Amino acid sequence: MELWKKTLSSLRDAVEPYDYKHWIAPVQVERLDESRRELVLTVPDDTHGRWLEEHFMTEIKKALHALTQSDYAVSFTTAEALPAALAEAVAPAIAPRAPRESALLVAPVASVATAATASPDLIDRYRFGSFVDGPTNQFAMSAARAVADHPGTLYNPLFIFGGVGLGKTHLLHAVGHAVRGKNPSARVSYVTSEQYVNDLIMGIQRNEMNQFRARYRDDCDVLLVDDIQFFAGKDRSQEEFFHMFNTLHSAHKQMVLTCDSLPQSIPLMEDRLKSRLQWGLIADIKPPGFETRVAILRRKAEADGVILPDEVAMVVARYVTQNVRELEGALMRIVAMANMLRRPLDVEITHQALGNIIGKTLERIAPDAVLRAVCVEYKVSAGDIKGPRRHRNITVPRQIAMYLVRELTDESLPQIGAFFGGRDHSTVINSLKRVEAMRDANPEIRVQIDRIRRSLRD
Ligand code: ADP
Ligand code: MG
Repeated sequence: MELWKKTLSSLRDAVEPYDYKHWIAPVQVERLDESRRELVLTVPDDTHGRWLEEHFMTEIKKALHALTQSDYAVSFTTAEALPAALAEAVAPAIAPRAPRESALLVAPVASVATAATASPDLIDRYRFGSFVDGPTNQFAMSAARAVADHPGTLYNPLFIFGGVGLGKTHLLHAVGHAVRGKNPSARVSYVTSEQYVNDLIMGIQRNEMNQFRARYRDDCDVLLVDDIQFFAGKDRSQEEFFHMFNTLHSAHKQMVLTCDSLPQSIPLMEDRLKSRLQWGLIADIKPPGFETRVAILRRKAEADGVILPDEVAMVVARYVTQNVRELEGALMRIVAMANMLRRPLDVEITHQALGNIIGKTLERIAPDAVLRAVCVEYKVSAGDIKGPRRHRNITVPRQIAMYLVRELTDESLPQIGAFFGGRDHSTVINSLKRVEAMRDANPEIRVQIDRIRRSLRD
């Protein structure tokens, strides 16, 4: 028994957590004979045993070998009877169609639950209208809109990739809503690749592969598959997906896929599938820039009926930079804290709320630090910036310095004016507007501003 426990713990590291949970963890030791190097494992049913044999036997033997330095003969036997409680728990869901009851009742409980919802409906708020676009996600959004308007004709598949929490799932649902909105009879299937894999496993276990294939090939016009990196290392799923892809593609049915990386960089993925994934259009999403982050916060606050002061939006956007989900989470937390403590939604409470999630006290950036960074970027002196000179070489850095002090510190407009050589607060407002215009018109300025921001954060 001790040996099997150790084997389990090395298998846990060697295989995908999902596989471990569903295929390895349910296995029990029937008999272990260390002198004869024999191990007999009890599996829930034959299919489970065959699956283990095909996919995990090498890993199991390898783990045993590493622990004992000898080769074990491993075989499987099926459980005689199912514990009554488990049978009861899963029976109502699947028993009526079961040709072989005992085998079916022991299907992993989790997959029974998810298989029932192969095409869960779309999340209502994930629509194009609530998606804030900016330079880092515009291309993906336009492409998604285009395929939603003309499914199956422009780019097939549309492949959207990017890091976590950047809006891939949001866009995928938005495509589904838009297609249905235009054509209510369109059959749109949204599925996560995890659900696809679960469905496939159920199809195999129940001997219902025809239904499985029909669901994804014949019964849908637009197929949306989320997070296909989950297919990595799952050969059978990749094979099914490959054939499904070919069928849908030649029938001009639109596919939109999301992934956390480029097709060619997905590990343990068949080459022929990777090449199919590149047939259509590939669009990436990167973390949004500062202005987009502020706009997302405003949009979110508006949707939730929260009045969000600009300063607060700026502080949040300044600190949460890599992930829109966290950005939204930060806002929720601040609003909750202000409500609970009956305090106004201001910079003070923001610092208090965010200090905890980020795990460090937020440092306030001093106007002097911003000024220094601007001087370094533009090779001008602080005296020039604060002084009266009106040459373009000075006025542009001066305006940008004001803009960044406004963005990065908690100074008020009059305070900023005073800091920059006693200027009027309306001068400051004009400068902010000028910078916004320059930033939109001139990519070089945008790069410079970003570089200054980064230099202040590091
Ligand atoms: P991913 O699938 O890339 O991990 P999600 O689509 O789940 O990310 O997005 C995480 C959260 O951030 C969702 O609540 C989503 O609505 C929101 N979100 C992401 N990008 C944007 C955006 N550009 N505009 C508005 N909300 C966004
Ligand atoms: Mg997602």
